Order: sequence, then C-alpha cells, then structure tokens
Amino acid sequence: MKDSGFNPFEMAQSQFDNVADILDLNDGTRELLRNPMREYHFNIPVKMDDGSTKVFRGFRVQHNDARGPGKGGIRFHPQETVDTVRALSMWMTWKCAVVDIPLGGSKGGVICDPHNLSAREQEQICRGWVRQIARDVGPFADVPAPDVMTNAQHMLWMLDEFEAIAGGRFPGFITGKPVGMGGSLGRKEATGYGVMYTVREALKELDLAPEDTTASVQGFGNVAQHAIEAFHLMGGKTICVSCWDQQDQTAYSFRKNDGIDLDELRNMTDHFGGIDKEKAKAAGYEVIHADDWLKQEVDILVPAALENQISKETVSRISEKVKIIAEGANGPTTPEADAVIKDRGIFMIPDFLANAGGVTCSYFEQVQCNMNYFWGKEEVLEKLDMKMTDAFHAVSEMARKYKLYMRDAAYVIAVNRVAEACRDRGWVS
Ligand code: GLU
Repeated sequence: MKDSGFNPFEMAQSQFDNVADILDLNDGTRELLRNPMREYHFNIPVKMDDGSTKVFRGFRVQHNDARGPGKGGIRFHPQETVDTVRALSMWMTWKCAVVDIPLGGSKGGVICDPHNLSAREQEQICRGWVRQIARDVGPFADVPAPDVMTNAQHMLWMLDEFEAIAGGRFPGFITGKPVGMGGSLGRKEATGYGVMYTVREALKELDLAPEDTTASVQGFGNVAQHAIEAFHLMGGKTICVSCWDQQDQTAYSFRKNDGIDLDELRNMTDHFGGIDKEKAKAAGYEVIHADDWLKQEVDILVPAALENQISKETVSRISEKVKIIAEGANGPTTPEADAVIKDRGIFMIPDFLANAGGVTCSYFEQVQCNMNYFWGKEEVLEKLDMKMTDAFHAVSEMARKYKLYMRDAAYVIAVNRVAEACRDRGWVS
C-alpha cells in the first residue's frame, strides 16, 4: 500500500460524486449508484492437506444490474478487503457500460494467498465459494470470471460445483473457462491486447508512430504480459517491467534500454510467476527498485498490477517525457495523483476503458456458449478490437467536444448509460 489509509471504495465513490455533479444527477439516482445493490460475506471452511480446518472469508458484491446480469471477476488475495471488492464491483458497472455490453457490475474475492495453497486446497476454496453463493448468482443473475490470482482452472472447478448444485449444464454461469470447455479463444490475451488497442488509438491522436515509442509496465501477470506482447506486435519497445518476488515479498523492476525480450523473461520465471533476478542479471537486465518502473523516460506508462500504485507520494516521479498512461489494472491511480496527471496534460486512458477487453471477451464467450458455436481466435480478436476502438473514440470525442479529462469523459458516458437504465426501469425518477 502506498497511501496509508487508502480506501478504494471511498476513491470509487469520490470519482462517482465528481461525475454525478457533471451530469447533475438527482439525489435518488446518486444514492442508488453510490452503493452496491447487494453484497454477501461468508465463511468457506476448508479441510487442509495437513488435516487441519481453515476458514477463508469470501465476498460477492453486486453493484448494479440495471443493464443486464452482474459481471465481474473473483480475486484471490491475502490483503483482500470488502471495500476493495465494493470498489471493483462499481468499476465493473462502469466498465460494461462504457464498452456498451448488456451486463451490470459485480466482483468477488477470497482472502487467501494461492502461493501457499496446494491445488487441492484451492479447488476446495473454489467449490466452497460457489456453495455459499450458488442461490444468488447464475447465468441470468450474476456471472463470475477470473481476476487477480485466479485462472481458467479455478473457473472450471467453480462451474463444476455450480452445475452439481443446479442439476444440469450451465456454461453461462461463469466465463474465462478453459478453451474446449466453453471458454473463448483470445480470452487470455483479451485484457492486455485491449489495453494496447486503446494505446494504439491514443498514439494516432497524438500523431505518434508506435515504432517510435517506448513503454514501462508495472506487473508481469496475465494483463501485463499480453499488453507487452501486443505493444511489441505494433512495433513498440518496452524498456522496463516490474514484477512481484514472492520469496522477498517485494517487487523489483527489470530494465533493458534496448528493449526487454518478453519470451526470454517468460522463460526466466519461477513457479510463482516471478522473474528470477540472477538469470535476468546474467541476461543483461538491470534489476532495480520496485517503484523505478514509474520514473522511466518513456512515452507510455502501463500500470498493470494492483490498485493504489500511482499516489500523491509517487506521482512526481513520472518523467516529463511520458505522454500516455494506460491503466491495465483497476484503480492504480489515486484521485490526488490523478489531479496532478490531469494538470500535466498527460493523455490518460482510464482503467475501466483501457482494461475493458477482458470483460468484453467474456461477453463474447457467453454469446458463443449460447450459440454453442465457437469462433476462431482471429475473429474474436477482430471483434474485440472493434469494440475497444469504438469505445475509445466515443470517449475521446466526448473529451474533445466538452473539454473534459479522458477519465471524466469515460465516466460521463458510462454513468449516464447506467442512470438511464435505472430510470427506464422505474427504479429512480
Ligand atoms: N476481472 C476482469 C475485469 O476486471 C474481467 C471480468 C470478466 O471477465 O467478467 O474486468
């Protein structure tokens, strides 16, 4: 945590209050959208491999489902809090609305550290989570997906438990499933690629060619790796990446001025997904401080790890050269830091727009499951590119027309769509 006392839900609410003022929303609508519709907190008892029983705390928060069934991932994280899940559920509502898919916003979590759990113990957590919440989720109510430290295998265990309870096959219960088991090709790539589709469009607006630009990325998980892959396919060069080190319980940044080699770094990861420092040094990487990714002299910064990473304490480290920040993670920039970035005129691609590729592909997964006909990878990525590009231009046009900061413009579009759905349903006047 960078800001002591940082509360992501207060941050999400303050972002919402700001746009509620711009849109002049009435009191009822504000109250409805400031807080989740429903939330569930529960215990998940698990018999551990050593014979003991451990009780894990699980959550599901359903922020708003006026535009369609709730949608959002489940995070496994040792520092998970209900306020983080609340914030993330609200951001899911805006995310689905800004890319205009017929889904609402939800999020789930379990306080646990999968690094220290066997596969069997993780399976029991997944099945236990579903047992506690099965009555209140489902293909037509609320559809989970992967997120921080959860993957396709976790989704399949959850689906299997849900189907055992519901008595039938319900592939629409969950997305991010393995390919061949109802999953979509391209889902793994979708979030990171989506981030770079928006960066590509921003570069066009700034009249810059990707091959003349450099990036620094925070994180080396699924989103970060695929964002780097897409950026390199566009011709760009990533010179720095930061990665969590499980053994040292801290992150390090890895820099190579002539550009990192993604496959080389992927081949150097340990079984926790961290980059091996010694191997990296031997391959010519400088291993530097965790926060150093932020002060690199690059054109593009991509925070793609966790929330609260660019704060009032760290924002001043951003180099004069930086032109674009694309938020691969949810909530990486605190409101105080955001105000500084806005003043500096950096082109911000806000989280719920930049990283909407994941949920958009989840929506495609649902569509394919419903048809029981699956598209090729090219087709999925082409449709994803179209959705992300359209959403990007709707937001940037709004920003230009009304002289708004990109984050505010994205919020205006998203909140307006959700408020309208609530009004049309007769929930508010
Ligand atoms: N967890 C991802 C997100 O934060 C994807 C959610 C989904 O696919 O439903 O957007």
